[in-house]
Amino acid sequence: MPPSRAEAPAGARADARLDAWRDLPAAQQPEWPDRARLDAAMATLATLPPLVFAGECDQLKERLGAVARGEAFLLQGGDCAETFAGATADAIRGKVKTVLQMAVVLTYGASVPVVKLGRMAGQFAKPRSSGSETRVVDGESVTLPAYRGDAVNDLAFTPEARTPDPERLLRVYNASAGTLNLIRAFTQGGFADLRQVHEWNRGFVRDSGAMARYEDMARDIERALAFMAACGADPREFRTVDFYASHEALILDYERALTRTDSRTGLPYDVSAHLVWLGERTRQLDGAHVAFAAGIRNPIGVKVGPTTTPDDALALIERLDPDREPGRLTFITRMGAGRIREALPELVAKVTASGAQVAWVCDPMHGNTYESASGYKTRRFEDVVDEVRGFFEVHRALGTWPGGLHVELTGDDVTECTGGGGGLADADLGTRYETACDPRLNHQQSLELAFLVAEMLAE
Ligand code: PEP
Ligand code: MN
Repeated sequence: MPPSRAEAPAGARADARLDAWRDLPAAQQPEWPDRARLDAAMATLATLPPLVFAGECDQLKERLGAVARGEAFLLQGGDCAETFAGATADAIRGKVKTVLQMAVVLTYGASVPVVKLGRMAGQFAKPRSSGSETRVVDGESVTLPAYRGDAVNDLAFTPEARTPDPERLLRVYNASAGTLNLIRAFTQGGFADLRQVHEWNRGFVRDSGAMARYEDMARDIERALAFMAACGADPREFRTVDFYASHEALILDYERALTRTDSRTGLPYDVSAHLVWLGERTRQLDGAHVAFAAGIRNPIGVKVGPTTTPDDALALIERLDPDREPGRLTFITRMGAGRIREALPELVAKVTASGAQVAWVCDPMHGNTYESASGYKTRRFEDVVDEVRGFFEVHRALGTWPGGLHVELTGDDVTECTGGGGGLADADLGTRYETACDPRLNHQQSLELAFLVAEMLAE
């Protein structure tokens, strides 16, 4: 007699759940020209070792549980879109260094642990508002498929470059593995020593006129460190850092091919990253992305924009965190500076009243993008700061915890966002505009944001 569904082996049941998304509408998937080549690439991917371990995902989940309870703060940062060419040692080091420098300042401001999470080692696929892009080339209007990230096609504006190529997903795996390996070396091998990171901050505040107003805080941190040293304290936490990886779970074939059963528990984890998040464009309740995320045991983020209703949020909780597991679900709000003070309170109030405990994190980037007079996609540093301020105001008024910050940043001195102490103007944007997608805070703007948020945390 064939086994009934209830008696099917656990593995088979788990697989059915992991593949349920295949029958649902999946937004933002590339139009691969050749399904057989995609299947072959995914079959290869399915044989490769995990990029992260299920136990590490659980550890991050535990720490995000502390964020949800108000006992820790999350810093999530990195490129909008990583690129294969950009996965160099210098660029990776620059981003890790920037996140660590920000984290020291935030730890001081918050007086709670800061959980460090890169938008790194896997952030290669992008949702697009339009599937195609039109440009005038040699006086003629040319329309090609939109760039969807290095995972899918190439930024160059030619038909060959823009044709989706499934073998790129194998390059995503390799670039992610190389990036993760270097991150692990940097954060475990002495580079991340707290005193060293603080020295970078001291030097930066000293040498950059625009940062002088933060000298007092830098000096206070110095005193705290000197006090610890005088007490003879030299904990492991001073010398090494736990640094986690995250990206948007966009291309479901890729994420599914990297989903494995944890040998300890028999439960499925997406081992492409510690945390994956669902974007504003792919969080449909009856869509494929939510169904996929519901089936894996990683901590999950969901971007929530200004059109999200409290009922949407409650339904997402029901689908993604039915067991109300601490740290399982993080809402990353991206309302826009002009809207956050109106859009966020009802959402937070109703979710809190429901008894659910999620982590609330502020993405002050994606609601504040506009096209500058010079034609660049940009963001004003002042809008970014204002959205974070609004986020803090809302949570303070409700008595809830502003749990973290999600930013697009780089360690380089790029000119992609305007404003900040360096006074980057519209006219400067062309000097060093390098992003493959959205504009990022440069090294100085990132640090400056960390000092400002540390002040908000300490208020
Ligand atoms: C992003 O994080 O790069 C992104 C596209 O965000 P959102 O889904 O919030 O628009
Ligand atoms: Mn982006």
